[in-house]
Formats: sequence, structure tokens, C-alpha cells
Amino acid sequence: MQNVKEIEELIKIISKLPGLGPKSAKRIVLKLINNKDEIIKPMTKALADFYKNIVRCKICGISKSVSFECSYTNCQVLDKKYDKICVVENISDQWSIESSSIYSGYYHILGGNISSVGQNKDNLLLDSLLERVKRGKIEEVILATSATVEGQTTAYYIQESLKKTNVKVTRLAQGLPVGGEIENLDDGTLFSAFKNRLNLNSNSD
Ligand SMILES: [Zn+2]
Repeated sequence: MQNVKEIEELIKIISKLPGLGPKSAKRIVLKLINNKDEIIKPMTKALADFYKNIVRCKICGISKSVSFECSYTNCQVLDKKYDKICVVENISDQWSIESSSIYSGYYHILGGNISSVGQNKDNLLLDSLLERVKRGKIEEVILATSATVEGQTTAYYIQESLKKTNVKVTRLAQGLPVGGEIENLDDGTLFSAFKNRLNLNSNSD
């Protein structure tokens, strides 16, 4: 592989992926070299399609095909209408909750938390959440941000901004370990956190 530019480049790119260093990247590239038609060909097409067609929704933050037109009242990716929105920080959180089958409803992916985006709150999809609640016949907003200081600060901020809408706001139960990121929780913990979620509207402070 010495001085083969294409191979070096591919190893460099693959070793940027999570959990992969140069060594495992080399192993992957070896596998690719030996399977040009079986793996590289369909993979090249899949990556090109992905790059062209998958975007982040500017309203709800989920990854969707460009052909789906989301609106404030309707998320086209889902085939049903719901009256709940679960607010998470990142796509990985959404995937964890989805795979646990605990919840059925809309998602709202903020794209981080208030601290991670610094002063620039506009990077988080906070305004569009408010619009979705106002226009979308939403009965409940479930705050499923991490049990970190940043996650809880974000939840508090959202709770405050939703006060004028009269929507029911709940937060995942205390069962979450402190510092717990949603994506790292096992299904059992997630289940009880959802089931025992706390109603925040009764707090009048
Ligand atoms: Zn959307």
C-alpha cells in the first residue's frame, strides 16, 4: 500500500470514524480491496445517495429524505398523527428511545444543549419547538434531555418558554443516573424514566 494515494486517503477517512483508529481502518480497507464489487460498489452508491438525499429537518431536527416536506403541524416521516413530542438533544438519543419501543409520538431533536452551542442559541431548534406546540394540537411535551447540568438547564429553559402555551410539560423521571446521557441508558432504565415521568406544570415557581 506504499504510496498508493487512494488507499492512504481512504484509511485516513475511515480512521476518523468513531471507535476506529488507523489499525482498524487498515483492516477495513483490506476487506474493501478484496471485495470491490460486493462491497465498494454498493457502498459507493449508498454513500452518494445518502449525501444527496438525507438532510436535517429545519423544523424537528430529525434526519429525513429531502422528498419529505415537514411542516409545523405534520411530520411526514411518521405515518401517523400524534399529540406528544419528545424533546432530545441528539439523533443518537432518538434512536435509543425508538429502539426501546417505549414511546410513540413525534420527536424534536434540538441539536445539542444550551451549553454546547454557547451563546448561539439559534443553532438549537428552540423556536420551532414552540411553533410546533402552538400549531400542532400537541397535548404533551416530554423533556428527555440528559441528566447532566447542561441537559437540565436546557430542559428548564424549554419549560419556561412553553409556559405561555398551556401544554402539559413532563420530564423523564429521576431514575436517570446523574450525568446520564440518554443514548447510554439501558431499556429498563429508559422504560421506568418514561413511565414515571414528572409533570412540570404543577410546579408553580
Ligand atoms: Zn421535521
